[in-house]
Amino acid sequence: MPLLENIAKVKKNIAAAARSAGRDPDEVTLVAATKVQSSDTIRAAIAAGITVCGENRVQELTAHLADYAYDGARVHFIGHLQTNKVKYVVGRVDLIESVDSPRLLEAIDRQAAKLGIVQDILLEVNIAGEESKGGCPASELPTLARLARSAGHVRLRGLMCIPPVAAAPGDNCMFFRKTRQLFVDIRMEMGDNDSDIDCLSMGMSGDYEDAVREGATLVRVGTALFGPRPPVHTGTV
Ligand SMILES: *Cc1c(COP(=O)(O)O)cnc(C)c1O
Repeated sequence: MPLLENIAKVKKNIAAAARSAGRDPDEVTLVAATKVQSSDTIRAAIAAGITVCGENRVQELTAHLADYAYDGARVHFIGHLQTNKVKYVVGRVDLIESVDSPRLLEAIDRQAAKLGIVQDILLEVNIAGEESKGGCPASELPTLARLARSAGHVRLRGLMCIPPVAAAPGDNCMFFRKTRQLFVDIRMEMGDNDSDIDCLSMGMSGDYEDAVREGATLVRVGTALFGPRPPVHTGTV
């Protein structure tokens, strides 16, 4: 697995996309989506210059933390989070990117209060209105954002979205643009110069360059760094 070359290539593409949109490449952080990767692979990625790991599953997060696999990097939780698993995540990651309901938000706030910390979060928006997907409906986002701002133990840092898998380059630009507009609206509402709200997480292996051109500050990339993942078994084997 040519991890080093892959990282270099993705970083180069991010920088080129940023420049083509008149942005400073330093505004964009590559988050390595490490689901199903081993602790050794994660260590190798960090040694090769990855500064943020994005973890999807609580179980993998817990195992890698116990292994000290993320040492030297920050960790974001990017997967669907169940309310009853919040205690395994709050205070153990730098950013929870996938807060999508008042119930989850309140559970995170409670756990952070218990630990005496403030947990950084993003709100995940279901930007394409897909039935099957997590994420807060765009129409409910302002309410959720206000709730986040009134909670004492979370700090709202921005938005995250997962649009449909793009069939062709450019397909998701519309969704990225919409998400960016919601991000701008929330920043306005919360106070113009709110520098806390500075994260816009969008773009994956198939569309991260489009996302960067549309304003992403975090791109979550797995396959383009680590190669294809084995298929996930969900039913009976
Ligand atoms: C797996 C995953 C990614 C990365 O997907 P790739 O297509 O492999 O780059 C990004 N974000 C989330 C939330 C993911 O679950």
